[in-house]
Amino acid sequence: MQIPQLSEIEAAILKICSVVGTVAPEIIPIQQAGGRILAEPILADRDSPAHDVSAMDGYAIDLNDLQRANAENQEHKPNSGSPLRLSVDGIAYAGKPPLRLVEGKAVQIFTGGCVPSGANCIIRREDTDETDRYETGFVTLSIQPQDLKLGQNIRYCGENIRQGQVVLEAGTEIGTAAMGALATFGSEQVAVRRKLQITLLASGDELQEPGQAVQPWQIRDSNGPTLRTWLSGLPWTSIVGQSRVQDDLPSIKRSIQSAVDASDIVILTGGVSAGDTDFIPQAIVELGGEILFHRLPIRPGKPVLGARIGNKIIFGLPGNPVSTAVTARVIAQPVLETFVGKISPRELRLPLLNADAKTLPLTWFRLIQLAGPGVKLVDSQGSGDLVSMAHSDGFAEIPAGCSGSGPWKVWLW
Ligand code: AMP
Ligand code: MG
Repeated sequence: MQIPQLSEIEAAILKICSVVGTVAPEIIPIQQAGGRILAEPILADRDSPAHDVSAMDGYAIDLNDLQRANAENQEHKPNSGSPLRLSVDGIAYAGKPPLRLVEGKAVQIFTGGCVPSGANCIIRREDTDETDRYETGFVTLSIQPQDLKLGQNIRYCGENIRQGQVVLEAGTEIGTAAMGALATFGSEQVAVRRKLQITLLASGDELQEPGQAVQPWQIRDSNGPTLRTWLSGLPWTSIVGQSRVQDDLPSIKRSIQSAVDASDIVILTGGVSAGDTDFIPQAIVELGGEILFHRLPIRPGKPVLGARIGNKIIFGLPGNPVSTAVTARVIAQPVLETFVGKISPRELRLPLLNADAKTLPLTWFRLIQLAGPGVKLVDSQGSGDLVSMAHSDGFAEIPAGCSGSGPWKVWLW
């Protein structure tokens, strides 16, 4: 068997993940479980549906019985064209125990109502004329009996899932799609991973808060808000601290140490490239930490750093805004997911519709917009261009030395 060669990026992520243990589970009420990660699989506590039920408002009948009646009708009044009438006996409302169908009769039924025993076909209300239903107790069929099918409009017991089968795997994020299934199968308390505690630190003497006056040599901190927003899309995380730190070694060391004490993961921005004030790697080493990787063959985001202090993880994301956003998504997020045991997301691969011939000798994350059956490149001035990023839906991952239409792996913001 050939063991696939790990890319440098995959190896870096794996190295960090090997330090990480899954955070402990906690039991919480289902009302609070939206957005959390399941710590255990959820099994069906009963068949779904738990009884044969109607998928439509209409009339439950025995189709064989009806077709027999139709044949007799034809025999006695050939070519009369007179439509079939159904004698209605009983109403099957949703939430009521099942009725029994009397031979030669129909039971009126509403969506979700139990199919009466003896019935095997639901005629839609729209396929009947109910004009004198309450005066006569009859409705008239407005479609041909031969157009009715056995089993039509019936949701059969267990057709979604059988009792005891796995509905949701451990590691599922309880999003909009999963929550309905969780609620349906009776969990009142649910075991989820506790929230991952994260501190965000933005480094740089040039940074100012929103609302502060900015000189031409200063900039507003955009990475802090960007990362905060990214994490709000990962509702199984919790930001336990967020601050800015000046480019001076003692302050950086103090900030990192207190962030490490308070959280599972510290995410820093800035201060990891080759500038004279890029003190982050030195600060981590002086605090007794270990640099697990520094610099990866990617653009943007080449100076990205991953480190540990004990079993706490530190990411140093390059300060350029596009680099920060891309490395958060590509490098940090898989590690965060490992911490909570989240199932890996499925890959999206789409063709690039306006490919050019440019290549790079490293993995290139190029901003894209979704465009019909594929994606289109967004013009960008580079990793400082947060305006083009704002107009993008995500980025395409173009492997080193490659160009053309792909299809390429696509990451959506
Ligand atoms: P650095 O990684 O510290 O060398 O920063 C690279 C570039 O990103 C510089 O132009 C910084 O001014 C800019 N930058 C660093 N941190 C931030 C931030 N929090 N928000 C916006 N831009 C930043
Ligand atoms: Mg800096």
